[in-house]
Amino acid sequence: MQNPFENALEQLRRAARAGEVPANVIERMSVPEREITVSVPVVMDTGETRLFEGYRVQHSSLRGPHKGGIRFHPKADINEVRALALWMTLKTSVADIPMGGGKGGITVDPKALSSGELERLSRGFVRMLYRDLGPKVDVPAPDVNTTPEIMSWMVSEYEKLTGDTTRATFTGKPVDGGGSLGRGSATGLGGFYVFNALRARLGLPEKCTVAVQGMGNVGGTAARILSEAGHTVVAISDSRGGVYKAEGIDVSAVEDYKHTHGSLAGYPDAVAITNAELLLLPCDVLIPAALENQITDANVNDVQAKAILELANGPTTPEADDRLFARGIHVIPDILANAGGVIVSYFEWKQNLTNETWTEEDVNARLKDILDTQSVLVHDEALTRATDLRRAAFLIALLRLKAAMEAPAEG
Ligand code: NAD
Repeated sequence: MQNPFENALEQLRRAARAGEVPANVIERMSVPEREITVSVPVVMDTGETRLFEGYRVQHSSLRGPHKGGIRFHPKADINEVRALALWMTLKTSVADIPMGGGKGGITVDPKALSSGELERLSRGFVRMLYRDLGPKVDVPAPDVNTTPEIMSWMVSEYEKLTGDTTRATFTGKPVDGGGSLGRGSATGLGGFYVFNALRARLGLPEKCTVAVQGMGNVGGTAARILSEAGHTVVAISDSRGGVYKAEGIDVSAVEDYKHTHGSLAGYPDAVAITNAELLLLPCDVLIPAALENQITDANVNDVQAKAILELANGPTTPEADDRLFARGIHVIPDILANAGGVIVSYFEWKQNLTNETWTEEDVNARLKDILDTQSVLVHDEALTRATDLRRAAFLIALLRLKAAMEAPAEG
């Protein structure tokens, strides 16, 4: 497994070479401002106490409070969280919202925990970290395997410890617990807006065939929205494998089947495929929406999609990027493609602090406005520099961070 932080640093260096990014900006971005490692004791249902390792990486506060999700995963480690935190700094910058970057994680298989154990772990993590969080300091959100319910436990623990009742320290909360309308679907919908803004510019047909790896919050939402918009979802998967049907999959039927049976195994209306096969299917758009390092040296030459919409963070390695660019396969990079989540998290934070409630139409319209503008800027930058969309997005983000470094408050 490649180290995702090494990949993220390599992406930084490549972007710097493609434009005029001063060395001090790259140096600043290469090192997180602060890293916290905690050991969380959790009383298990058996009565024994187990320790879980957790992390919070506060990468940059140059443009605003640290912002980024918390991931629960057996393979979560400090290097993964560092990479995700750096990408968050670039993502909030490319979205041009007044937030910085951060990320958190706990090394745990949440599927092996009872609901009570999961709640005690979530609350315990906040007890370890609460002094380092806050609406103007660091604002976590959900990521892989963390849900609005988990956010509500974290908010409740934070309120108990600090007395802060703004609920603005966490985003991605349930709507009846201070969450924003539209946050649940924001990452998938945001990906759809970015795709629409760039589709014709990238020479993709009006109606595309799409393969989606991962059918969680992000991949499931994107598949549903794309299919409702008349595109053909030919394949979709979860961690154990996927299903394929050239004429198009009924996304809701697949989701209902998974809900009832726990997996896609035995789904009657499509052919079973592995996740490795899904990535290599002939289609217009491939959407990785699960984890890092999916498109690598090992499989990149066999990718048949015309474009890749990165809804997962870090699914393509730098070496694979080069091969894809050389083959004319466009990669719409994660820091732009999946920025919808953090943009609506920012809207949620803002509503909490001003005591406002925006309608879902309002949230989605503001989201679309930001992503339409920034997608076109990124594409124009790529054309001007004759480079790929990732380097272009990094360049735009880095130059905004440079401006923040040079602002008078920095001293
Ligand atoms: P999730 O937990 O809701 O879903 C993850 C999905 O990936 C599940 O369907 C799971 O079965 C699948 N999966 C896990 N391991 C896999 C594997 N090895 N191969 C194939 N599929 C696998 O998580 P999510 O919130 O949908 O996040 C998915 C990706 O999107 C992550 O990379 C995350 O960082 C990124 N992301 C999420 C948000 C957000 O708002 N939730 C925002 C931006 C980016």
